[in-house]
Amino acid sequence: MDSHPDAYILLGPPGSGKSTQADLFGREFGAAHIDMGAALRAAAGERTPFGEALSDIINKRRELVPDGIVRSILENELKRVGPSRPVVIDGAPRRESQIQAVLSAIHGSGRELRKAIFIDLSEAGSVERISKRFSCASCGRKLILGSDLPAAGGPCPFCGGVASQRADDTEDGVRTRYRIFREETMPVISHFKEEGTLLHIPGDQASDAIFKEILSALETV
Ligand SMILES: [Zn+2]
Repeated sequence: MDSHPDAYILLGPPGSGKSTQADLFGREFGAAHIDMGAALRAAAGERTPFGEALSDIINKRRELVPDGIVRSILENELKRVGPSRPVVIDGAPRRESQIQAVLSAIHGSGRELRKAIFIDLSEAGSVERISKRFSCASCGRKLILGSDLPAAGGPCPFCGGVASQRADDTEDGVRTRYRIFREETMPVISHFKEEGTLLHIPGDQASDAIFKEILSALETV
């Protein structure tokens, strides 16, 4: 038996449902979800010289976070999880130059990369999914237009609060994020494919169907 806990990397364009899949991994394998976007935003909110410098990069200059910072934040997250739990990482590596940093952070934590999982979704699919994504300002629930939320502009059906969209969840915002994904993250996906560690899963299906497909692919590798 391999005694190293597993690490998985989730890759996919906006709207591909990476955080839902990460939650399902948590339920199935007890894996901890490392959400790098959230971890970077949290670090940028700290009132330290490091936090302020990071906030300047993310919020003011709107530049990509340097790879060394991505690595140290990931190392901290892995430490926080502890040595024995499997992890599922979402939001890194975002570009080719981060691959080695992410892999050495994973190995440095005593884990083994089991698979990089690419949830594939077209640009049209991405726009359609994201444009349905709302959240409630009062209770914090995520609301999907057409299922949880009957109409755009209507109140949260759970608490009556204001249901709104994230500023970059507009169609233009999604197309820009999709283009960045295609230009910067597709090379990462090609890298894992060449290495033989990639699972390629069609994302144009319900989240439980996606997870089933991931599970059966993991069993056959
Ligand atoms: Zn609500």
